[in-house]
Amino acid sequence: MAPSHALRCCKRALNWVPVLFINLVVAWSYYAYVVELCVFSYLVIFHIFLAMFIWSYWKTIWSKPASPSTAVSKCSLFLMKKKKLKQNVFRLVQFNESIYILQPQTAIRYCDFCQVIKPDRCHHCSSCEKCVLKMDHHCPWVNNCVGFSNYKFFILFLAYATLYCAVICATVVQYFIKFWTKQLPDTHAKFHILFLFFVAALFFISIVSLYSYHMWLVGKNRTTIEAFRGPVFANGPDKNGFSLGFKRNIADVFGEEAKYWIFPVFSRSVYQCYTMAKKLLVLSHLGLNVVLPRLLKVYSNILN
Ligand SMILES: [Zn+2]
Ligand SMILES: [Zn+2]
Repeated sequence: MAPSHALRCCKRALNWVPVLFINLVVAWSYYAYVVELCVFSYLVIFHIFLAMFIWSYWKTIWSKPASPSTAVSKCSLFLMKKKKLKQNVFRLVQFNESIYILQPQTAIRYCDFCQVIKPDRCHHCSSCEKCVLKMDHHCPWVNNCVGFSNYKFFILFLAYATLYCAVICATVVQYFIKFWTKQLPDTHAKFHILFLFFVAALFFISIVSLYSYHMWLVGKNRTTIEAFRGPVFANGPDKNGFSLGFKRNIADVFGEEAKYWIFPVFSRSVYQCYTMAKKLLVLSHLGLNVVLPRLLKVYSNILN
């Protein structure tokens, strides 16, 4: 085995350490709560939040990051050469009740590693070694890229992790007080209870702040990358360049139907995703950029 290959394997194995750590903490919290504390009346709610937490965590870890398609890339370049693309773009925009505007872009972004044209909001991840659509960040705690394919799952993972910790804190606090007033029987269970409260409170504080930050980003239709460095359009950088208004920004991540919002299932309509992905690809190949709302007017002027 070549040394570089062995090193790569080692690095890949090490990347799973934070995930293993989270799993061990959750497994211990389960043991401490269900076996050591074991208060029957709390067990139902505890298991509901635990199940939702594990479900969304699992989906965040195992959702393959969506990458720009080389096939579509080639197809669009072909169309571009045929000079028919402009008409197609206008048609796409017309049928997608679009609220985007086109603006000239100085250069088409291209990834030398993957050899694909990068659509807007797509970035190359050096850990995953591929381009990721609507990349938010690479998260070591799930050993995966958080982006177009799993952003909703990631948000739900944070939400249910917060609720899981909140349930533990709220139900254990009475025993925690009893520990300090020496009312608990002198068994090793009391140390589990003590640490259970401390660990849950610590995780609650850190996760709830991360969750609030991401909900704020969702409301603005902004990724973490864009929050640090606003996307550059023809008229300069604009952090709000992709915002569609609060309601549509929420639907852009969670889907149109509210009944699916709390479940870690893919709930954006296939049509919406297909047209959006296609539109992003087509527009960036054209050398144009996809921006924002002032805009139907512009299209109706062009189309009429
Ligand atoms: Zn790439
Ligand atoms: Zn990544």
